Amino acid sequence: MKPRALDYVRARSIDHAIELLSTGADARVLAGGQSMMPAINMRLASPDVLIDIGRIDELRSIEVGSHLRIGAAVTQAEVAGHPDVLHRWPMLTAAIAQIGQPPIRNRGTVCGSLAHNDPQAELPAVAVALEAVVTSQSRRGTRSIPADEFFRGTFTTSLEDDEIVTAVDFPEPALGQGWAFQEFSQQPGDLATAGAAVVLNRREAAANRVVVFGVGVGPTRATLIEEAIRYTTDPSLDPQLVDRWGATLSPFDDAHASAHTKVQHAKQIVVRAVAEARGRMS
Ligand SMILES: Cc1cc2nc3c(=O)[nH]c(=O)nc-3n(C[C@H](O)[C@H](O)[C@H](O)COP(=O)(O)OP(=O)(O)OC[C@H]3O[C@@H](n4cnc5c(N)ncnc54)[C@H](O)[C@@H]3O)c2cc1C
Repeated sequence: MKPRALDYVRARSIDHAIELLSTGADARVLAGGQSMMPAINMRLASPDVLIDIGRIDELRSIEVGSHLRIGAAVTQAEVAGHPDVLHRWPMLTAAIAQIGQPPIRNRGTVCGSLAHNDPQAELPAVAVALEAVVTSQSRRGTRSIPADEFFRGTFTTSLEDDEIVTAVDFPEPALGQGWAFQEFSQQPGDLATAGAAVVLNRREAAANRVVVFGVGVGPTRATLIEEAIRYTTDPSLDPQLVDRWGATLSPFDDAHASAHTKVQHAKQIVVRAVAEARGRMS
């Protein structure tokens, strides 16, 4: 299938991109194009105008300080290959390694994956687990949106049509924090049928996060599991509790797996990920 005719504009700056988005035409942002272009080619999306933000210098930086700031034009491969990210935000590196194949990660952006919010995507779950904050900009100004409030449902976020994501910030993980990122997919590089991003804190158990993806409408906190592990250091989870939690999930059947299989995978993944995160606590 071929896409229908559309206009393509390469934005020179953030202001230029915002101006182009505010014209009233059905304009969409193009970052790495790894989700947008397949959608256009399959006519699942038919915007009038594509606004390419990939060469805007202001969006191209990775800043490392007390937090990690990733600009909206930074690719997943650039983040995964950054030495400070590997040492200080290893969950990001681990999750990016699971996204498609190297050519996808060489073009796809971290912020694009967040804005797209595919329910099977790794990075929205990581953003919720690590309490990331998304920065967006429009003619009305700049907004900081905590990941907990950013993801609204399947392929849906709290972004307005005229707003672009300019960056995402990941705070420094707490000292002694344990983490794990696990997913199950039919073959390496396939979208996950279920996955989990887990963060456990020795000093502040209330800040524990167990986030699953692939089994709902986007990244979902497993609050039943979070509550249960708050007051114990046992790395294993009670199987009855895991069954009760599994019964709260409502994934849908797709070409990769049935809903039933996804729930079974999610239960196994959560058990493994919690044990792995416990093992990493210091
Ligand atoms: C073969 C294949 C395998 C893949 N496997 C996986 C996988 O295993 N896991 C996974 O998570 N993804 C996978 N992907 C998708 C890939 O990771 C995409 O890169 C990612 O989902 C979107 O990033 P992008 O920069 O390419 O965004 P684009 O495709 O350019 O955009 C995606 C959507 O987000 C919007 N958008 C992008 N950036 C912004 C912004 N800054 N502000 C506002 N809106 C924005 C666009 O308008 C569009 O609606 C795969 C893709 C392919 C083709």
